[in-house]
Amino acid sequence: MPLGEFDLIARYFTRPPARAVLGVGDDCALLAPAPGMQLATSCDLLIEGRHFLSTVDPRRLGHKALAVNLSDLAACGARPIAFTLALALPQVDEAWLDGFAAGLWALADAHGCELIGGDTTQGPLAICITVFGELPQGAALLRSGARAGDDLYVSGTVGSARLALEAFRGTIALAGEAFTQARLAMERPQPRVALGLALRGVASSAIDVSDGLLGDLGHVLRRSRVGAEIEVDAVPRARELAAQPLAVQRECTLAGGDDYELLFTAPSERAAAVMQAAASAGVGVTRIGRITADPGLRLTDAAGAPLAQAFAGFDHFRAA
Ligand code: ADP
Ligand code: MG
Repeated sequence: MPLGEFDLIARYFTRPPARAVLGVGDDCALLAPAPGMQLATSCDLLIEGRHFLSTVDPRRLGHKALAVNLSDLAACGARPIAFTLALALPQVDEAWLDGFAAGLWALADAHGCELIGGDTTQGPLAICITVFGELPQGAALLRSGARAGDDLYVSGTVGSARLALEAFRGTIALAGEAFTQARLAMERPQPRVALGLALRGVASSAIDVSDGLLGDLGHVLRRSRVGAEIEVDAVPRARELAAQPLAVQRECTLAGGDDYELLFTAPSERAAAVMQAAASAGVGVTRIGRITADPGLRLTDAAGAPLAQAFAGFDHFRAA
């Protein structure tokens, strides 16, 4: 007999509540934000074939499903507290559920983020997580806060997840350690939660890079009614990407997607505070350009010469 819906929930997705007033098992979960704190919430839907390959290790999928949501909290500077999990499963596969739950719980525990509820149904494999975080009133990092003259930074490195995707598609040959590293970037992104918290009161705006750096920067520029200059070859990339032809490097770093790094701005007089925030979070950050009063985006190469090339961010309804 396969596990039924309620046995499945009890076995894999139920733990006694920690901070929540009420967790899994009733009609609603109950959360009590601390006095003076705001609740931040965000939701991401992952569909097999569109967001992940059917062959992905379920442990990595459990990790990534939560990681992409924690990345949204990070981009707001919110501290994760809880999440819900809606799951559509084609069948009850206990080996798959063991792996998925292990990856999910490991990341949840690392961030003190508890599972408080969800929904479980039979259907094509899909995972929808909603996260809840908290932050002091008015402290959220928004897309609308960039000002002319601010420096533009990105955390970590970008482009490796796209490199791995191209390797899976067969458009780029990648082997050995280079493939292993790129695949880790794609399947096991690290949400920059500590950096987001450290940037509260320092960064003027922030967004997480999920659909490609330039596309996501475009959201900040429109919301903030400003423009930007980017020194394209200063955008940080990992060794496996730096070994590729320059055109591939530029495409992957600027329009790659699935990076889950933070792209943020700060007034130039806060540069030392930015570096201190990065050091306290244990994450590298790189200045890649600046915000301008002129709208639009200007790209330059290492010699300062303008680049005319267009790079499109990812759009689910315009994707080929
Ligand atoms: P409802 O009928 O209100 O939708 P369900 O019978 O679907 O409730 O779920 C029973 C309980 O189990 C609820 O508290 C719900 O939040 C929780 N739950 C269902 N699926 C999951 C899941 N995948 N992970 C965590 N909790 C879940
Ligand atoms: Mg239900």
